[in-house]
This record gives sequence, structure tokens and C-alpha cells, in this order.
Amino acid sequence: MGSAEIIDGKAFASQVRADVGKKTAILKKKYGLTPGLAVVLVGNDPASEVYVKNKGRSTLEAGMQSFEYKMDSEVSQEEVLARVENLNIDDRVNGILVQLPLPNQVDADAVIASINPEKDVDGFHINNVGLLNTGQDALIPCTPLGCLLMLKNYYGDLSGKNAVVLGRSNIVGKPMGSLLLRENCTVTIVHSRTIDLPNQCRQADILIAAVGKPEMVKSDWVKPGAVVIDVGINRIERDGKSRLVGDVDFTSVSEVAGAITPVPGGVGPMTIACLLKNTLTAACRQAGISEPE
Ligand code: NDP
Repeated sequence: MGSAEIIDGKAFASQVRADVGKKTAILKKKYGLTPGLAVVLVGNDPASEVYVKNKGRSTLEAGMQSFEYKMDSEVSQEEVLARVENLNIDDRVNGILVQLPLPNQVDADAVIASINPEKDVDGFHINNVGLLNTGQDALIPCTPLGCLLMLKNYYGDLSGKNAVVLGRSNIVGKPMGSLLLRENCTVTIVHSRTIDLPNQCRQADILIAAVGKPEMVKSDWVKPGAVVIDVGINRIERDGKSRLVGDVDFTSVSEVAGAITPVPGGVGPMTIACLLKNTLTAACRQAGISEPE
């Protein structure tokens, strides 16, 4: 075991969920408002089924209403769009999440575009992307939001830190870069065409790895004392057993980093906690009330 502090995402996520639960109880008592989250699952991808089950359980635990819609893998795009439209006009539903990936016959961009931006708790709708990138109140994608909350909890003020984000997806890398810029970090986003990736990563005070490549980030990619947030979730076979590992080589990097998130138990639990947080935010905004303190 190395010297890095382990950032316990599981424990922090349970604090965030408890806070959302308290605020939900206040909303119920004061305004008779129970936030509702609807999750649409298309097909029967086992990993997605597990995520959706966990999301439903956490939603109920926070005192919110949970609605789950399972659709057959052969479903047409029109049917998915019709389901979203029903949820857009359902007053019990404050947040809508369509679990990705979707089968080939369903265009994910069109489905995301059809979600009422005020109910887009995944923060993927182009309106929310635009709001985030122009520094306005947006619903922020849950995984980068979870990473940011952990970083702020660790560092406090992030101003002036060199942040390197490894990966440029719309779901993680790009919004992560925007959020860190908003916090006055100096941000570099690196990707598969970046030249000398290890050297770029070594400049980071904060390194966020979101590539989907098992244990790609090695100890000599990391500046001593840097904070490393590992978003990756990769299933591998090792010693004849199936295991989950991140995008960071945890054992070697913990010898060098100042702090590191484990996989599992780091970013993953924070993602679900932030989904509940976004549902609460969305419910308050839709009702025109401030979020309880
Ligand atoms: P994507 O596949 O959409 O994006 C991966 C990014 O990594 C791309 O920008 C790609 O670059 C870059 N990349 C891939 N290979 C390399 C390489 N060899 N060198 C440099 N860059 C590379 O993945 P996501 O962003 O959706 O997810 C990333 C990881 O995070 C996955 O393991 C996923 O399972 C996990 N994840 C975890 C979540 C959680 O809750 N903890 C939530 C969401 C994702 P380019 O653009 O040039 O192709």
C-alpha cells in the first residue's frame, strides 16, 4: 500500500445522499413536493440493469418517487420518443434519465434532444451543455459533478491548479474540463491524438482519468503529490477472477500521488448521489422555489 490518501467516494456519496434526503423531507413538509425521478431502460444489458436497480433503490432511500420504464431491445425510436414525451408532461416526474447505451436503431442524440431540458438530470441536453459552458445555471452531468465535489472537499479552493483531463467524451471529459475551468483551474484536455500523453499528465496537480482503458495511467505519468481521480470502470480477468479496475494503475500510482480515488468505491457512488442531487435541484427549479439550505 502506498502513501496516497484514499478519497473514499462511497462515504462521501452517503453524506451527499443523506443531505439530499434531508432537503427532500423539507420540500415535502414545507411545500408538499416529492421529487420524482424516471429512468428509462431499453434492452437487457446486465451492467445497465444493475445501474438502474441501484438508482431506483437510492431514489426511494432519499425519500423521492422512483419510476422505472423497461423497454424491449427491439423497440423503435418513435416508441422511445413517445415514452420521453409522456414523462416530459408528467407532473410527478422532475427528472428523466434514459440509460445509455441505446440499441443501434435508436438515435441517442435525438432521444436526449427530446427530453425537457428542465428535467434533463443527466445534463446531456444541448441547452444544459450550453448553459454550463457559458457559466449559467445548468443541470450538470452527474459523473463530472461527483468528481468536482470530491475535489472541492479535498482541496477547498481549486483556483490556479493545473488540471489535466484524460478523455474528451461528452459525458465525462468535456463537461469535466468546463467545470474545472469554472473553478479557475488551468485546464488541459488530452485524448487519443495527444502527443506524449505521459508528459502532459505529469504537469497535473489534478489528474482526471476517463478513458476506459484498464490501468493505463502509470506511476511515472503522475506528478508526486498530485490528486488523481479515476473515472474508469473496466472489467478484467486476473488470476482467473473477474475484477473491476479503473483507468489508473492504483497500486503503483498510490506510491506517488497525494490522494487517489479507488475503483470501485470512488467516482461510481458519487455519480448516483449527484443524480439525486440534480433531481432535487430540478424539482426546486420547476416549482420556482429555492433549494433548502
Ligand atoms: P468514451 O469511450 O466515450 O471516451 C473515452 C475517451 O478516452 C475519448 O476521448 C478517447 O479519445 C480517449 N481515449 C481512448 N483511448 C485512449 C488512449 N489510448 N490514449 C488517450 N486517450 C484515449 O468513454 P467515457 O468518457 O464514456 O468513459 C470513460 C470511462 O469512464 C469508462 O471506463 C467508463 O466506463 C467510465 N465511466 C464511469 C462512470 C462512473 O460513474 N464512474 C460514468 C461514465 C463513464 P478520442 O476522443 O480521441 O477517441
